[in-house]
Amino acid sequence: MSETQRHSYDVVVIGAGGAGLRAAIEARQQGKRTAIISKSLFGKAHTVMAEGGAAAALGNVNPHDSWQVHLRDTLRGGKFLNDPRMAELHAQEAPDRILELEYWGALFDRTADGRISQRNFGGHEYARLAHVGDRTGLEMIRTLQQRVVQLQQADAAEHGDPEAMIRVFAETTITELLKDGDRIAGAFGYLRDSGDFVVFEAPAVILATGGIGKSFKVTSNSWEYTGDGHALALRAGATLLNMEFVQFHPTGMVWPPSVKGILVTESVRGDGGVLRNSEGRRFMFDYVPDVFRSQYAESEEEADGWYTAPDLHRRPPELLPRDEVARAINNEVKQGRGSPHGGVFLDIASRLPREEIIRRLPSMHHQFQQLADVDITAEPMEVGPTCHYVMGGVEVDADTGAAVVPGLFAAGEVSGGMHGSNRLGGNSLSDLLVFGRRCGLGAARYLDGLAGRPAVPEAAVAAAARAAEAPLGRATGESPYALHQEIQQTMNDMVGIIRREPEMEQAIETLDKLRDRIAGVRAEGGRVYNPGWHLALDLRNMLLVSQAVAHSALERQESRGGHTRDDFPGMSPQWRRITLVTRLSGDRIELRRQALPALRPDVIALFDRGELAKYLTEEEMAEIPVPGP
Ligand code: FAD
Repeated sequence: MSETQRHSYDVVVIGAGGAGLRAAIEARQQGKRTAIISKSLFGKAHTVMAEGGAAAALGNVNPHDSWQVHLRDTLRGGKFLNDPRMAELHAQEAPDRILELEYWGALFDRTADGRISQRNFGGHEYARLAHVGDRTGLEMIRTLQQRVVQLQQADAAEHGDPEAMIRVFAETTITELLKDGDRIAGAFGYLRDSGDFVVFEAPAVILATGGIGKSFKVTSNSWEYTGDGHALALRAGATLLNMEFVQFHPTGMVWPPSVKGILVTESVRGDGGVLRNSEGRRFMFDYVPDVFRSQYAESEEEADGWYTAPDLHRRPPELLPRDEVARAINNEVKQGRGSPHGGVFLDIASRLPREEIIRRLPSMHHQFQQLADVDITAEPMEVGPTCHYVMGGVEVDADTGAAVVPGLFAAGEVSGGMHGSNRLGGNSLSDLLVFGRRCGLGAARYLDGLAGRPAVPEAAVAAAARAAEAPLGRATGESPYALHQEIQQTMNDMVGIIRREPEMEQAIETLDKLRDRIAGVRAEGGRVYNPGWHLALDLRNMLLVSQAVAHSALERQESRGGHTRDDFPGMSPQWRRITLVTRLSGDRIELRRQALPALRPDVIALFDRGELAKYLTEEEMAEIPVPGP
């Protein structure tokens, strides 16, 4: 007979990546009893896999850097669809969050004069990514976990119990949010090992569940990333923004099969790696779009000069934002100039000495040697686009992380708005810290303003338990693995990197049919550590986020950032003013167009008119003062 555990907290944080940990630390520092829940082992989140670094305008490597330049790069990278307030807060606060991490014990790589070193990355004008070799995420998680332990030690001294104020529930999956009327009252889930159910009573829940990559067939994401937070938010009545924007990282390994989809960090290109087609040509020079032409090198000589003298040369086109590079690779392959296994070649081996590659990229070298017998110091890698990150996510208030449902908050990859239509590399790790902290603060302030605690309705707990048990009780039904493959294939083939109306319509139809089939999915076996059952429960979430992506992608009739329409290849100034908001009505996806907040004049002034004219409408341009002679 299985048990249902009950716990009561002030704040429940779902997710133990960078955003969740930083939010939980803040909530605990504000005196709130806080639970951190993670689907996988504590310490195993995407954040730990982040290689390149965290973007923050510290100005250590290039003194010209500032939060304004970082903001400009972020808006450019997002193709002006970012929530302007989020992008500004992020650029302003990222340096403090990095320094705070250092105070808490993070050991970043150093410059020759002992300051935090910063590396180049696509779309960032200056070397800006604070890093620890290519293991930055690991150091970030180690530091945040150490901070949690520090707080627990203080609680042990004060309360006689290290878990009095902050406790971690690892290998615990949340399947439903619980509400009292229109307010959040807690969350329901199960323990992965025993299959026991667990109810968390809490007036504030912070979603920090990361991405949705497992809806796609080729992805850098690991098994946990089934869009749970996005789906939980939708089912609880919250809204999602801009779900059409999915980032395909240009350089996932395409060969050998043991590493297919696994990421080759952008640092390989930031440190000198170049992309070549089957003819040996550095093809990225052919793909610099007009909006970026003035900032990127026109010859190999100029591009190579940039690595040693960035103030005297323009950047190599290999460092264009990710969406541009991914599309270029896609096109080279389509034109028959791809590598033998359907990618292109990424060559660092001929560009840097072996020892230097190993020093700068130790994890890349070790991982591919061990997993695939590929020596990146001796041969080029075969790479191609892999589904990596979702820009779309829960609609939140920029300052507090509050979603539209009272008591619900979101931070990190599961939240939307910050990155517009395309995220710059390195901007996620800093986003987690900036908005994780703000979310923890926001939840604490929300609690301070509450007249009384909401109560968890028993009927909602019983319904969540029935829904969770259902796949185990069925005598017939399809395999969750087969259904998962169908979702992935549908999204990959019909709502992937290049999109067309008839295919997306077909995808929507297929996903609709899958909804009924998933409702009848059957998991074999019992509740004790049963991955088939876990997947059966995840399917519902993957389906919902896939539907949100497909509907939004069909609606947006333009190409921008992580959304490329074959039938609408250009960016439309009209569409730039629009964010697409998804909500759930019954079990149907509903879309609404919402005006994007206008940019402030001082932000507009960061760009020259020529550049703005490529993005803004004529009416918007007419309102921008023309500079005097
Ligand atoms: P995650 O770190 O993804 O954590 C999500 C947490 O939620 C996990 O603990 C998970 O177990 C938990 N969870 C999910 N669903 C549930 C549920 N239902 N119940 C309970 N818990 C749940 N970004 C950069 O800025 N720089 C980089 O160099 C970089 N490199 C990357 C390399 C790779 C290989 C990958 C995959 C991503 C990289 N990114 C990078 C992106 C960045 O790592 C992620 O966007 C970021 O770490 C997301 O952090 P998060 O805190 O939002 O979520």
